[in-house]
Amino acid sequence: MPPYAYFQDKFMPLAQAKIGIMTHALHYGTACFEGIRVNWNAEDDQLYVFRCQEHYQRLLNSCKLLDISLSHSVEELCRLTVDLIRRSGYREDVYVRPLAYKGSELLGVKLHDLEDSFLMIVTTFGPYLDGSKGIRCCVSSWRRIDDNMIPPRGKITGLYVNNAFAKTEAMHNGFDEAIMLTSQGYVSEGSGENIFLVIAGQLVTPSCNDGILLGITRDTIMHLAKKELGVETVERHIDRSELYTADECFMTGTAAHVTPVAEIDHRKIGRGVIGDLTRKLQQLYADVECGKNRKYLHWCTPVYAKPPKS
Ligand code: PMP
Repeated sequence: MPPYAYFQDKFMPLAQAKIGIMTHALHYGTACFEGIRVNWNAEDDQLYVFRCQEHYQRLLNSCKLLDISLSHSVEELCRLTVDLIRRSGYREDVYVRPLAYKGSELLGVKLHDLEDSFLMIVTTFGPYLDGSKGIRCCVSSWRRIDDNMIPPRGKITGLYVNNAFAKTEAMHNGFDEAIMLTSQGYVSEGSGENIFLVIAGQLVTPSCNDGILLGITRDTIMHLAKKELGVETVERHIDRSELYTADECFMTGTAAHVTPVAEIDHRKIGRGVIGDLTRKLQQLYADVECGKNRKYLHWCTPVYAKPPKS
């Protein structure tokens, strides 16, 4: 079966879904998107969409920021997503990318009086960062963009140029990932991940006012840490120097899952290996996102019409 796309209000083979070169979003970054993982559970013979509703709630918030009105509700978007994956017939881990965009084919820098469009694609997508031993990060020379420039709480395509600058600089300098600071100098986030530190047995993560995307994995980890391990998370400003002295550090994201950080700016974090709490959260998250942990099956939307084994 060829992979399908949802484009111009219908399903079609991905190869047939094309946009015109005048499309507003292509020229001005006037689009917003989501990234949703869909995880294969061999025991259940089932694919599970992880926290589908939360992703579409966030997409609708991004749409509000960009003055895009979608004709679909969260529930309809979830149904369309399941339909798209089912039509494509996947039986392995995949990734869904919905995109809401200014689809008018005209020039002019603005958000108003433009056609609002929506599409979705589904594709295979392996590991994004190596979660097996701990990645090496640097503090980026590129500062995180402020809420009053382009709000980072929206997944706005144009904003991602800021992230791309940071990621490419990091990789060109031999690191795996960048950590961006706010214009005030507080720790914000990675180019596609939120960041957590372990300090004196507590989790610490930048607050929603530090230029971050409110990550769904971030929320999942805070929930699992509290409910499963009794560990609280403090959301607060984090100084750069706290990165270097933390006991453990890890990054979270739909693509990145829970990725341990072994080194920042050539300094070992903790002992420079995966920390105990990081490892526990990594394992918990892995079981929750593919529906193995039955307690959290409500976060997993089945794609194929068959009840999972209890
Ligand atoms: N920050 C940024 C900049 C991101 O692109 C992502 C990935 N969506 C995240 C954080 C993590 O968010 P989530 O856990 O919802 O994928």
